[in-house]
Amino acid sequence: MNTLKKIQTRIYRAEQLYSEFSKEMLEDTRITLLLAEYQQAIYHTKSYFQNTEVVEACSRCAQTNEGSCCFEGMEDNYDHILLLINLLMGVNLPHERELNNHCLFVGNKGCKLLARYYFCVNYFCPALENTLGEQKMNQLSTVIGNEIFAGWELEQALRNWLRNKNY
Ligand code: SF4
Ligand code: SF4
Repeated sequence: MNTLKKIQTRIYRAEQLYSEFSKEMLEDTRITLLLAEYQQAIYHTKSYFQNTEVVEACSRCAQTNEGSCCFEGMEDNYDHILLLINLLMGVNLPHERELNNHCLFVGNKGCKLLARYYFCVNYFCPALENTLGEQKMNQLSTVIGNEIFAGWELEQALRNWLRNKNY
């Protein structure tokens, strides 16, 4: 199965789980609490990025198609649970590439996902690392660490929730 077909299959699986269980999941207090905490951590990271050179540099990359680290094949890092989390956050998952030779989830305005694989949140190219400098990089690590931990907690809770449904 090629990479695009593989991720499309996972997207359909996530959409199926969403249509079958989202109502029940969103009535579960632990799931909603973890979802809210994860969303808050994501917005915190995003606002941190806005206040540094990250957003500007990465948007420029996405628009010029030069050197972006969102290359084709990166979508393969996403499983149905992380995709389901995006659906629970109200993200519309694309089924086709907007940009040739790039990750399925990137468009002209950058990444279309909210819940992202740790590499996507944590990776800074050497040029960007140089621009940011050591102090900002250290501050970013703490903020990003909180986001990754909040995402991990929600993923575990959803896996257990589905396991209890024999899924
Ligand atoms: S991390 Fe670097 S290579 Fe990746 S999108 Fe941002 S500026 Fe471009
Ligand atoms: S940040 Fe988004 S668009 Fe870029 S590689 Fe990760 S999932 Fe794909």
